[in-house]
Order: sequence, then C-alpha cells, then structure tokens
Amino acid sequence: MTNSNILVINCGSSSLKFQLINAESEEVIAKGLCERIGIEGSKISYTPAGGEKYETVTPMEDHTQAIRLVLGAITDEKTGVVKSLNEIGAVGHRVVHGGEKFASSVLINDEVLKAIEECNDLAPLHNPANLIGIRACMELMPDTPMAAVFDTAFHQTMPQEAYLYGLPYHYYEDYKVRRYGFHGTSHSFVSRRAAQILGRNYEDLKIIVCHLGNGASISAVKNGKCVDTSMGLTPLEGLIMGTRCGDLDPAIVEFLCNKEKKTVQEILSVMNKESGVLGLSGGFSSDFRDLVSAYERGDEAAGRALKAFSYRVAKYIGAYTAAMNGVDAICFTAGIGENTSLVRTMTASYLGYLGIELDEEANKKRGEEVFISTPESKTKVLIVPTNEELAIARETVALAG
Ligand code: AMP
Repeated sequence: MTNSNILVINCGSSSLKFQLINAESEEVIAKGLCERIGIEGSKISYTPAGGEKYETVTPMEDHTQAIRLVLGAITDEKTGVVKSLNEIGAVGHRVVHGGEKFASSVLINDEVLKAIEECNDLAPLHNPANLIGIRACMELMPDTPMAAVFDTAFHQTMPQEAYLYGLPYHYYEDYKVRRYGFHGTSHSFVSRRAAQILGRNYEDLKIIVCHLGNGASISAVKNGKCVDTSMGLTPLEGLIMGTRCGDLDPAIVEFLCNKEKKTVQEILSVMNKESGVLGLSGGFSSDFRDLVSAYERGDEAAGRALKAFSYRVAKYIGAYTAAMNGVDAICFTAGIGENTSLVRTMTASYLGYLGIELDEEANKKRGEEVFISTPESKTKVLIVPTNEELAIARETVALAG
C-alpha cells in the first residue's frame, strides 16, 4: 500500500469512534468520536497526535454526515493530519456479528455487505449501525479498499461441543442459535502478544484471556485457536459485567416477568442495563473505581459486587483449564483487567491449585505489559493491554496489501 494510513471506524447506533493509524510505525495520528448522531446536540471531538482536543457541537443528521465531518477534521488545513484523503490507504471497520459466515476479516464488496446484512437479526442493535458506517464511507471514499473485522470471527474455531446449547438441535439448524462469542479482536490480539512476551510459540500454548471491561468475556485459546468463550448468542452470557447479569437460570426470566408484571423485553432490558455490578451494588455504580474506593471504606454493597464479579472470573478460569487440560498463562486485559488490582488479587485467591503465586508489587501496576505472577509461579499471570483499533488496522493492512 502506497498510502500507509489506515482509518479505523467503530460505528454504533448513534456514535462513531475513529482512529487514523500509520501502517508502518503503528502510531495513532489522530482519533476522535462523534456522539448523538441523528439526535439533537450532536458533537464531534477530534484529537490530532500531540495536539489538543477539539470539540464541536454541530448537527449530524446521519452517519454519512458524521463521516464527512471526520474526513473534514483529518484533512483540515489548520488542524488536520493529512493533506488529502489520498493519504488514507484503506479503512478498517469493526463489525460486531459475522455469524457463521465469517471466520476471519475480509475485504468488503457487495457480496460481503449482503452477508453482513444477513447476520442483522443476530445483532439487531449493532450490525445495522456497522453497515450504515461502511456504506457511508464507501460513498465518500469509493476507491479506497475497506475491510470488515468481526468481533465474532476469532471464536469460529470453537468445537461443536463448546458452541452448542442444550436445546433441540433443530434450533441450531433452523435459526443458528449457538454460542458465537464477542471481543474476538481483543482475545486474538492479547493471546498472540502473550505468546511473544513469554517467548514461546503461539501454537504450543494454552492461554486464558480475561477481557474485563464494562462488557467482559473470557476465552480459552489452545495452540493458537479459540476453543471456548464465555459470551454466547449475544453479549449477555457469561461473566457478571458492569450492567449485564451474565449467566443465570433461564427460568428466572419468566419468574421475574410474573413478579414484576413486566414483559420479557423489559426484564431483558433490566438484565442488560441495570444488573451486573451496578445491580449487585444496589444501584451504586458500574464503575470499578467507585466500587473499589467504596469497598476500601468498608462498603458492604460494593464488596459483594466485587466478590461476585471476581468469583465468576475464577470459576471460568477453572472451567477453561479443564477444557484445555491445563493452562500456561492467564492474561488480564481491558479497563478493569488492566487497572483494577483488587479484582486480580480476588480472582487469583481461588487459583492456588494452579500453582499461581501473585507478585503483590507487580500487581500494583496498571495498564502496562507486566508479569504479575512470581518467577516461581507454575502458571504465568500477566497484564497485557489490549488495543482493538491497532488490531483492526493490522488486519486491514494484511488484506489491503
Ligand atoms: P472498558 O470497557 O474496557 O473501557 O472498561 C471500563 C471499566 O474499566 C470501568 O468499570 C472502569 O471503572 C474500569 N477502569 C478504567 N480505568 C480504571 C482505573 N484507572 N482504575 C480502575 N478501574 C478502571
């Protein structure tokens, strides 16, 4: 690619995050966010590398207009970072759901657009927004190659026993109801990086990645392939999260509908938006900074949320150790995984059977690549900061050549 900057786009239903990354140096040249697209009070924030952040409140009727503003900001005479759009070699789009159709990233063409659209009912809030972003970019940059990088793709290597639910098999055949998993770009990036840090062959390792952010998931990566992951058909399954409940008895849905006189949709909304550590702390906070400081002041509600969260992480680590018949390394990543030492300590307190010993000093570190297990620890434990935008840029470079 002669024009070696990659624009990475992550489109939500009313927001759009972007980064411009140099393909060779992998430096972020500019980044920003469009918020409240299609809603009154829309705003773009834009930060060129080493420069100050610009925020402009400006109407954005739709995503095409948002992308037009992003391209305008990047090429602006005064505050821009490139002279023209010709300096953008390719665009990488994050796409949430690739169903069973995509086991890897792809260059986008009409056929790919159609296939992504066919996955819409698996992610009705996310995929349509991703498609709008892609189409808007294609309209404004018709000659620039575009890649789709899927949250689900890395998990497509799971064996059937890991992805099937215990439901009538024809639900899988008829509707593709199965475990897909999300955060795949992060699980792939972090597990590969862990192998590099360990100085070992990716294909020879058993790695557990704990992606603990506001949305949280765990994956088991054996010999360079994902063999299980905690999120399911949707991101609601698995760990207790910021506001999502994670695993529970499915019969609770009907039970609560009856007790609370609510519809299934309303209870699911509670399970997505009012549960997790927010719900467990009695509505106090979903932010781990708040929870940890409250816990340190002796707050019981924060304590029970943190303990339940960490216990669930430890339980999954146990399950995935069994799934892989062992584990060489456990990685913590994303907002909580990288920053909240208390969660790492609480989780590790269950893992003595793996011969894990935490290095308390190292575990105080935040947001950097570091071993937090002692050199004697049989299983290695590391913090590996994730970087989904860089991962998307790399995939895009690989495809666009
Ligand atoms: P993410 O979704 O990966 O951005 O992660 C968001 C979560 O990470 C929130 O619950 C934050 O409280 C937590 N987090 C971010 N920074 C810190 C920090 N410095 N210390 C503790 N938790 C943090």
